[in-house]
Amino acid sequence: MQIEKIREEFPILAREVHGKPLIYLDNTATSQTPREVVDEIVRLYEHTKANVHRGVHRLSQEATDLQETTRRRVQSFINASSPEEIIFTRGTTEAINLVAASFGSRFRDGDEIILTIMEHHANIVPWQLLRRHADIKIRVVEINENGEINIEQYRSLFNDRTVMAAFCHVSNVLGTINPVKEMTAIAHSHGVPVLVDGAQASPHIKIDVQDIDCDFYAFSSHKMYGPTGVGVLYGRRRLLEEMPPYQGGGEMIKHVTFEHTTFADLPFKFEAGTPDFIDIAAFSKALDFIERVGLEAIEAHEEELLQYITPKLEAIEGLRIYGTAHDKSAVISFNVGDIHNYDLGMLLDQLGVAVRTGHHCAQPLMAHFGVPGMVRASFAVYNTREEADALISAINRSLQILR
Ligand code: PLP
Repeated sequence: MQIEKIREEFPILAREVHGKPLIYLDNTATSQTPREVVDEIVRLYEHTKANVHRGVHRLSQEATDLQETTRRRVQSFINASSPEEIIFTRGTTEAINLVAASFGSRFRDGDEIILTIMEHHANIVPWQLLRRHADIKIRVVEINENGEINIEQYRSLFNDRTVMAAFCHVSNVLGTINPVKEMTAIAHSHGVPVLVDGAQASPHIKIDVQDIDCDFYAFSSHKMYGPTGVGVLYGRRRLLEEMPPYQGGGEMIKHVTFEHTTFADLPFKFEAGTPDFIDIAAFSKALDFIERVGLEAIEAHEEELLQYITPKLEAIEGLRIYGTAHDKSAVISFNVGDIHNYDLGMLLDQLGVAVRTGHHCAQPLMAHFGVPGMVRASFAVYNTREEADALISAINRSLQILR
């Protein structure tokens, strides 16, 4: 892979921060966007801005075609069996809220949902919100010292009150790649549907929802080199058809009177209001970028960086890495001694290195490790060994100041 050529496609990588070249290692939070995606957004605003699915006029038809082409692009990207199973949302968070609110409306007092200790708040809080109508119990899957799921304990959590299992494909803190196919098969053997939070998998790993056999799969464009404000919910058609709408409004209806409304067919039943059609259409270009570079090449490059930097980090006195799973993506969370993650993050920023600090929207996991937060460096296709080295020297310099 020609990293320099790839880097040239990302204008932001040429900027400086505090007079230093930007070293962007916060890709788990959001990744940067190549020029072709940005150009497409500008082109669409200048050339094809018209509301989708509403007009007979030319512009509206062009905009609708672009959105529906993207839907088919996404369908093939994750190997869904039909475009009707692809619902556009604002992001992973909205996708999970949609499933919790709509599918979850059938849950009753005493029903149980299985989550893992490593979930992002986006895959915890929407299920808790169901407690407004039913006394839902949340059962939690534990992890071993490497940050891997305890599969036997997971298996033991199922009982006749279990109504849902929801877990991340890849942890945004530990980097652990969960055995989602096996976990799905276990849930299905108990007749329990599965939601996979794929926010951290879709930028790095080939997703095949039919192979995983999950019932729902959620992810965000902005973590996949794409625009902000766009997410995807994949849902198994049979379940989506049974589910009530999530929001009401334009686009999601067939016929409305003051007495009664009939709803549109899939996928529009779940897409009330004007979608973010420009960013949805431009998301196609991000998928083009990923497919042109190749997910296998992206994964191999990031794995190489992970292998390169891990021993160098481990060699820093007092540094502890959280998450050393056998199957791990290039996300490294750590602390050094009793130095506050925020202090270290601030100093790294002064040296031009963008890392994330804090609880990473995973407070139960922070509680598990007994820390308020961690520093997290996460890598993408455009990161280099030189940047990994720069992170190591920036940490060493910061530690000299902090110690
Ligand atoms: N799930 C995981 C594992 C994440 O890492 C994130 C974001 O960091 C989300 C869900 C939420 O994604 P979004 O903010 O794009 O909705």
